[in-house]
Amino acid sequence: MTGKDKHSLLKLVPGVDRMMELAKHDARFTDIPSGILKTSIRHILEKIRNSILTKGETRISDSAVLSEIFEHACSITAPRLVSVVNATGVVLHTNLGRSLLCEDALNNMKSVAAGYSNLEFNIKKGKRGIRYSAVENILCELTGASAAMAVNNNAGAVLLCLDTMAKGKEVLVSRGELVEIGGSFRIPDVMAKSGAVLKEVGATNRTHLKDYQAGISENTGLLLKVHTSNYKIQGFTSSVSLTELVNLGKKTDIPVMQDLGSGTLIDLSKYGLGREPTVSQSLKSGADIVTFSGDKLLGGPQAGIIAGSRSAIEKIKSNPLTRALRIDKLTLSALESTLRLYRDDSKAVKEIPTLRMLTLSFEEIVSKAEKMSEVFTKAVKNQAAISLMDLSSMSGGGAFPDLSLPTRCILVEPFHMSAAHLEKKMRMHRPSIIGRIENDRFIMDPRTIQEGEEMVISRALGKILTEK
Ligand SMILES: *Cc1c(COP(=O)(O)O)cnc(C)c1O
Repeated sequence: MTGKDKHSLLKLVPGVDRMMELAKHDARFTDIPSGILKTSIRHILEKIRNSILTKGETRISDSAVLSEIFEHACSITAPRLVSVVNATGVVLHTNLGRSLLCEDALNNMKSVAAGYSNLEFNIKKGKRGIRYSAVENILCELTGASAAMAVNNNAGAVLLCLDTMAKGKEVLVSRGELVEIGGSFRIPDVMAKSGAVLKEVGATNRTHLKDYQAGISENTGLLLKVHTSNYKIQGFTSSVSLTELVNLGKKTDIPVMQDLGSGTLIDLSKYGLGREPTVSQSLKSGADIVTFSGDKLLGGPQAGIIAGSRSAIEKIKSNPLTRALRIDKLTLSALESTLRLYRDDSKAVKEIPTLRMLTLSFEEIVSKAEKMSEVFTKAVKNQAAISLMDLSSMSGGGAFPDLSLPTRCILVEPFHMSAAHLEKKMRMHRPSIIGRIENDRFIMDPRTIQEGEEMVISRALGKILTEK
């Protein structure tokens, strides 16, 4: 194509005004804001001009251009934060939003969000109240703490506690506990930000009480124990128990803090999970401060909970940093509703989605898997083989790192496309369906698939595998 031909083609590209006019009479565009429509028209027309110049593109029909504009406008206006189907089997999947809220929390959040509330108002006294009242008493009741509060997240809680208790002072931490949690939360970095000085004691695999003793100086502000949430040190190991650390703290008059990470309010070993220290156990051992997440094993909203002695919590509450990390009313309402369920362990395990998924029995999983495989087999219309395989799910979220939860997964082996292609199509589907690939098969774990989502998956599989 000569330059002259291209020039005459360029003249055929419609103008912005013309496309605006056409869109005005097209019902698809009714809800598209005019600014976005203009941007999309300019973008698509520019794209067409470019493809005439570079590829000699010759077909320019108004309706095709209009459809492209519509798609582009939709891609701009579509919501970005959307719900997805978690078929990974990782219950506390940080990238997929960790815990799902229980029904009570959702309802409470809605009513507190839609109207005014007593967030910082004492109804009995008719004057200003305290934000933490909504959760302080119940946290004390459930953990045995004498005072408690909640902030934005556990990383914030740790930062706040270090800043309050040990700014400009040394904090002793075992070399075996210098954890990094995904998303760049590292104990040494948080320590640096708080203005406390990290003093490592012991070795990676073995730390003894004498290491802490040797590390103590007149400038020691805090003894910190960090739960090694997402890893286990195995082999020739030794660590100092919280009780021993508390005894040392008492002798030397140095407060002791434990970052429990996930933190659980109930002993989950009686539900077939591993033994994680509960918050009450840590407090009973005498820790002055314990911090843990709201959206890990607790199964509530993103929050950082601080429980401990009255004097420590009072100091933390009056730190100006607390204001910057404060919990908002929606989180607070969801947290209170979640905590209320813990007054009855069996109710908590049944109604809090995180706990429900973690404690699903193998029989329940098998029954879910079999039902799904039947539905999916029909949906894929001989375009893929559907089979079942016993694998394991993971807790995720820095809890039970070495625990594998027995599960039965659904495997999809497409006949006319690669599993990688199917994985991508499922991921790009709306709603997005997130599974994984192993040995060229697309794998979905029923443990994290919610009620009703099997139909969404079934329709997606049918559409993707049978479309020409
Ligand atoms: C997860 C975790 C944190 C961070 O908690 P967030 O609630 O994600 O901020 C801190 N410390 C430990 C040990 C953890 O496991």
